[in-house]
Amino acid sequence: MKDVRKKRLATQIIHAGQHPDPATGAVSTPIYQTSTFAFRSADEGAARFAGRDKGYKYTRLGNPTVAALEECVATLEGGCGAIGAATGMAAVNAVYLAFLKAGDHVVGTDALYGPSRLILENEYSRFGVAATFVDTSDVANVAAAIRPETKLVYLESPANPTLKLTDIAACAEVAHRAGALVVVDNTFASPVLQRPLDLGADVVLHSMTKFLNGHTDVVAGIVVAGREEHLARLRQVHLATGGTMDPHQAWLVLRGIKTLGLRMERAQANALAVARFLEGHPKVSWVRYPGLASHPQHDLAQRQMKGGGAIVSFGVAGGLAAGKTVIETVEIATLAVSLGGVETLIEHPASMTHAGMSRPEREAAGISDDLVRIAVGCEDVEDLIDDLGRALAAV
Ligand SMILES: *Cc1c(COP(=O)(O)O)cnc(C)c1O
Repeated sequence: MKDVRKKRLATQIIHAGQHPDPATGAVSTPIYQTSTFAFRSADEGAARFAGRDKGYKYTRLGNPTVAALEECVATLEGGCGAIGAATGMAAVNAVYLAFLKAGDHVVGTDALYGPSRLILENEYSRFGVAATFVDTSDVANVAAAIRPETKLVYLESPANPTLKLTDIAACAEVAHRAGALVVVDNTFASPVLQRPLDLGADVVLHSMTKFLNGHTDVVAGIVVAGREEHLARLRQVHLATGGTMDPHQAWLVLRGIKTLGLRMERAQANALAVARFLEGHPKVSWVRYPGLASHPQHDLAQRQMKGGGAIVSFGVAGGLAAGKTVIETVEIATLAVSLGGVETLIEHPASMTHAGMSRPEREAAGISDDLVRIAVGCEDVEDLIDDLGRALAAV
C-alpha cells in the first residue's frame, strides 16, 4: 500500500486512502455496497469482535469504501484518523457527544453555523451542558468566557457568513492552558487553505456536503482527530449513535474530492475577482473577503490560510430590499443556501440560514439585514461579474 503522508497536498488529495482493490486490482475504490461481511470461521468472527482481527464485520461498524475516505481526509488534515458521518451535523454531534457530559461548558464562536449553535442552546442544555458564544476573532473574549468547567472551545474560521477569522493558534494556547479541547469546523476553508491540527487544534470537522465533495449532490460529514485517544472516543460514540456513512455516499465524496485542489484554486481566484469588482461598485456599501487588504484581519488570513477562500459577503446600498433585488435578478448565480460546489450560489443569511437566531443575537454576531452571501463557484469569472453587474444595475 502506498503511503502518501509525506507527499504534498495535491498528491495526497488524489492518492490518500486510495489503494488498488486487493481482490481485483480496481484502481477506483469499489463501492462495497453490503450491510454485513461473512466470516470464514466461528473463530474468525469471534476474533473480529474481540478486536484481534481488524477485518470487517458490519457496515455501521466499518466499511472499506468509507474507510478509504476516512484515510484520505485524515491525511489531508494531518490527523491520525477520521470517522465518516451521514451529514455535517452528525459529525458535529459526534464531537459534542464524545467530549461533553452534564456540568460541562462550551465556548463557541458567536457566528457558528446555525444548527451547531442552536442544538447546544436548545437540546444539550436539557442534559446539563452550558454554552457561551463570543466573538472569537478576539482571543481575549475566549479567555474571558472560559470557566473551570469549560471542556470544549469550538471555533469556526472563517465564520459564516461574517467571514471573521479566529486566530486558531492563539485560542488553542488559551484553551489548552485551561484544560479544554479545541475543535475547529474547517468547512469554509478546507484543508487546502487551512490545517487546524497544525495550528494546535485537537479535532477538526467538516460538512463534506460543501467543498470536500464539491458537486452539490451529497450530504456528508467527517471528524478528524489529532490523537488516537480522541479518535477512539469519537468512534465509540459514533458507532453507537449510528450517524455513520453509507458506502455509496462515501464513494461519491471520494470521486468529488479528487478535484478539490483544482476546484479550490479556481473558486478562490474567482472569489477574489468578484470581491474586487464588488468593492469598486457604487451600489455596494461594503465587502468582506479575507483575501482583500480591506479585511480587518487580512494579516491573520495571510498567516493562517493559503488565500481568502471562495465565500464573499457584501451589503447592497439600500439594505434588505436592494439585496433582495440582487439575489432575485442574478441568473448564473443560483438563489440557494449551501456553498462549496462548482456552481455559484447566492443567499440572504438573515432571512434564510441564520433566521433561527434572534435579531439581537444576529446583530451581536455581525449578521446585518443587508448582508448578502455569495459562494463563488468555478464558472468563467467574467460571466459571474457580468451577472452581478446586471443585478446591481437593477437596484
Ligand atoms: C453546512 C454546514 C454544516 C452542516 O453540514 P450538513 O452536511 O448540512 O449537515 C456545518 N458547519 C458548516 C460550517 C456548514 O457550512
